[in-house]
Amino acid sequence: MAVARERCCARVYNQVMTRSIYLDNNATTQPLPEVVEAMTRVLRDDYANPSSVHRFGQAVRHRVETARAQLAALIGAKPAEIVLTSSGTESINLAIRGALPARANRRHVVTTQVEHSAVLSLADSLEREGYSVDRVGVDARGLVDVDAWRASITEETALVSLQHANNETGVMQDVVLLASIAAERGAIVHVDAVQSVGKTAVRVTDWPVQLVSISGHKFHGPKGAGALYVRRRTRLHPLIVGGRQERSLRAGTENVAGIVGLGVAADAARMELDRSKGTADANRARLRDEFEDSVIQTVPFARVHGADAPRIWNTSNIGFEGLAAEGILILLSDAGVSASSGAACSSGSLEPSHVLQAMAVDERFAHGAIRFSLSQLTTREELHEVVALLPDLLARLTALRAN
Ligand code: PLP
Repeated sequence: MAVARERCCARVYNQVMTRSIYLDNNATTQPLPEVVEAMTRVLRDDYANPSSVHRFGQAVRHRVETARAQLAALIGAKPAEIVLTSSGTESINLAIRGALPARANRRHVVTTQVEHSAVLSLADSLEREGYSVDRVGVDARGLVDVDAWRASITEETALVSLQHANNETGVMQDVVLLASIAAERGAIVHVDAVQSVGKTAVRVTDWPVQLVSISGHKFHGPKGAGALYVRRRTRLHPLIVGGRQERSLRAGTENVAGIVGLGVAADAARMELDRSKGTADANRARLRDEFEDSVIQTVPFARVHGADAPRIWNTSNIGFEGLAAEGILILLSDAGVSASSGAACSSGSLEPSHVLQAMAVDERFAHGAIRFSLSQLTTREELHEVVALLPDLLARLTALRAN
């Protein structure tokens, strides 16, 4: 597996590209020009420590607080409910590890089989530490089995963690329904909304949840800047102790440039969502659907995973029967198209993704599954180009397999 990954990466790295079509936006997005500009200004000019009492420090503090307010406005929260972190992963760790001590008499955690590894690895660690963990399955559409979810949450359940939009398929869970079931039994609810916040409207006040994880680099902000929404009166323990930053919930001098970039990206996303009043999702989903229809028409042995469930507009997971995703990715990359197979970190792996396995996707399709993830910058022309490349590219792989 490691060898396959090395070979794959070396090949990709050495390639001189003439075309560049980026369809790996669930791995990360291109920062907006205004994000880069704001961050550059912070690095160059606004370098004071926001904890310093002098005017310069307080001016930088103001920039941090502006960013917090911008992010809060994006999700309908209050600025005081936002804890700034270094990533979605840290936010998830802070949410789950930070909230469990408040339910010390309960030692049971419930999550789902289709979570990102940030949640699943943490669930494994908790199990080793003596918690019991249930990972509820999904149906063939990718939606959490509501009966199994209900049955697994008991008066012993301290916390549940569920995803909003899946990073591999884009399938969106019914957060209100699943969270309400957990809330009835007094469990704390954490939502991993890393793949939805900034792309589609998320109002945390519409959700009966205490904790929501966010990551800036998934919506045209910088890497290294994330946040945790913590509903008022939710008790949380810090993971990192030291200074009093983030009201002692996350010690360490702030990554001001990253935070400012996150704020600018949040502001841009909010303005875009406000401007389009919900129509942007439908328009963009249309582009994705057109792409999928064209792929299916061009490649009869292709199948879209998660197509029968509500999905976020930007994600298209397509299985090519009988082919290996690694080969498809390499040829796409050679042609200047950046896509992914499942989660970025499992690219190069020969194992089908845990998400597709949980959906009981036929192995012949799961092994050849490619995730094309779009952004607001993706054009119809780019998608046409990708579709046009496929017949030749797949024929080459089919011929290789036959030899
Ligand atoms: N949760 C989901 C659903 C993700 O897709 C990712 C990243 O791909 C994460 C969490 C982790 O976020 P970050 O890369 O900011 O640590």
